[in-house]
Amino acid sequence: MKITDKKCEYCGRTTALVDSEIIYGRSYGLVYFCKPCDAWVGVHKGTTRPLGRLANAELREWKKKAHAVFDPIWKQGLLDRSQAYERLAMRLGVREIHIGESDIDMCKQIIREVPYLTEAAWQIRNYEK
Ligand SMILES: [Zn+2]
Repeated sequence: MKITDKKCEYCGRTTALVDSEIIYGRSYGLVYFCKPCDAWVGVHKGTTRPLGRLANAELREWKKKAHAVFDPIWKQGLLDRSQAYERLAMRLGVREIHIGESDIDMCKQIIREVPYLTEAAWQIRNYEK
């Protein structure tokens, strides 16, 4: 376990860089971990660069929900993955969007925008027929 400069977004404590095995029971690489908050975030493969903000149990739930409503758009081939993310970013008025880096508010906004994304995609598709 290595103490790092990365602060926990919830409590401001320094985090520890640990193997994700202590969370998942098997290793998926390193994570920054705040034990008191039960919050963590993974790193970009082969680096110690965090993927985004630490997520606690509540945020993890919201991210799961956001993925559950958003991912079918590209998994079902309505749009390809990058198109789906581009359009989502456009609707949210941001340059780029990553569910993994979103906070709870952003997750809620994503969930609200999904019906508009799919509707627009269906319209385009029908139009092209
Ligand atoms: Zn913390």
